[in-house]
Amino acid sequence: MTSFCTFKQEYYDFQYRQMKTFSCGLESLNNDKHCIFHHKEYLNDITRPENKKRVLEQLDDAVNKSISENGSLFCIGYYLPGVRLNKKFKQFVYFSDATFSGEADFSDATFSGEADFSDATFSGKQTFLMLHSQGKQTFLMLHSQGKQTFLMLHSQGKQTFLMLHSQGEADFF
Ligand SMILES: [Zn+2]
Repeated sequence: MTSFCTFKQEYYDFQYRQMKTFSCGLESLNNDKHCIFHHKEYLNDITRPENKKRVLEQLDDAVNKSISENGSLFCIGYYLPGVRLNKKFKQFVYFSDATFSGEADFSDATFSGEADFSDATFSGKQTFLMLHSQGKQTFLMLHSQGKQTFLMLHSQGKQTFLMLHSQGEADFF
């Protein structure tokens, strides 16, 4: 019998401009109430290295679907490995409360809608986040476990460029 992920979380919806409840609803893993993205151990099960590949493939599908169907990308509360996204997002993108266990590189991605990374956790050694925001609101909160975190903000009129460089060792740019 197919069952579905029970993950739910309140979030601020940029499109409707109000708090809404995100309900995952993806197919859940066997004998579990969570899907591959919301299951805490699935990704890091060292006896099943293929799990990580599956998570990345399904994330890729979700990203492409969001772009082709021009719909918001919801990755709220996802457990993700290191990811490198280099797409141009015109849609609203939600990575709030997501946990990245590897290097997260968004430096080649462009977000022209709102992107929400509030309370996302980046535990990889390096985190590159570059945000081109042309929307009215941008929420960014970063919990970095690297030793040093550099935050740079370039604001040029309507556009704001934010670059975050987190590394174990000193690195100035
Ligand atoms: Zn789920």
